[in-house]
Amino acid sequence: MAWTRFGKKKDMPGGLWIKCESCGTMLFRKDFEQRHRVCQTCDYHFTLPARDRIALTADEGSFEEIWERLGAEDVLEFNDRMPYGEKLKATRAKTGESDAMVTGLATVKGIPCALGVMNFRFLGGSMGMVVGEKIARLCERALADGLPVILFACSGGARMHEGAVSLMQMAKTCGALQKLHAAGGVSISVMTHPTTGGVTASFASVCDFLIAEPGALIGFAGPRVIATTIKKELPKGFQRSEFLLEKGQIDCIVERSRMRDELARLLAYATGRDAVAAYKSEDHAVADVGPAADSKDGKKAVKGKSKTKSKAKTKVKAKAKPKKG
Ligand SMILES: [Zn+2]
Repeated sequence: MAWTRFGKKKDMPGGLWIKCESCGTMLFRKDFEQRHRVCQTCDYHFTLPARDRIALTADEGSFEEIWERLGAEDVLEFNDRMPYGEKLKATRAKTGESDAMVTGLATVKGIPCALGVMNFRFLGGSMGMVVGEKIARLCERALADGLPVILFACSGGARMHEGAVSLMQMAKTCGALQKLHAAGGVSISVMTHPTTGGVTASFASVCDFLIAEPGALIGFAGPRVIATTIKKELPKGFQRSEFLLEKGQIDCIVERSRMRDELARLLAYATGRDAVAAYKSEDHAVADVGPAADSKDGKKAVKGKSKTKSKAKTKVKAKAKPKKG
């Protein structure tokens, strides 16, 4: 099959303008892409393709993909409108990806980590055998190499084409994370719009730190299904990040523009580096200052540069606390 990870096509419709799904504003596509797909009027965070997410998160050139050739098979010979096998082939050709998750090793502001990012463009980011396997392997790799794990969730849930096999990935990913946690490893889950179904009900919710992007739909069954089942009107903002933060389901909400800083802070904290310096600085050498004992020097070192990075002033809405694994 003729696809490579460099040869992927953007499957977005062409045109200079794009309409905001939330407020309806017409956005100039170039500005919109420059703002990493965040609406300038209402701050709505659009779904970000996996490769763009990696580029935004990892240090330039640091991402080293692993298991990129891992592909699913149609073990059940499932057939809806077209056989699952054919659907997989078509989706691979369209997206240039082997499945709905990209995994690899990277550094974030100089701090090494294991990174897994879901791709919504691949069958709605659904979790099947490959997504489960990649997460499990990533946790094992992180455990062997002593790395923290970051998982970006963006999914419609379990992949129905794989039946019970897709549901088994819930237990598999949770088991792998549990093994990592039991050995003292650290995991960070970033839930982006939308994170639903079996993904919310498994790995995305059992990491040490649960971060969400603003306004993301996060839940198990969709709001419409719930409303018709319980025959009640749902509260305003139901299943959105802000609602879930208020209810204690997630630890914090982080805007896309600050995500890299926040992840660096948590990674530094998890690996015994200076978290304050890591948050503020874009200088990898500073983030790498090492143990917190040196934090005074670290802080001084960033102070001179902090003028260029004024975004750091905004605070995290709720302080993330590590949970007991
Ligand atoms: Zn908008």
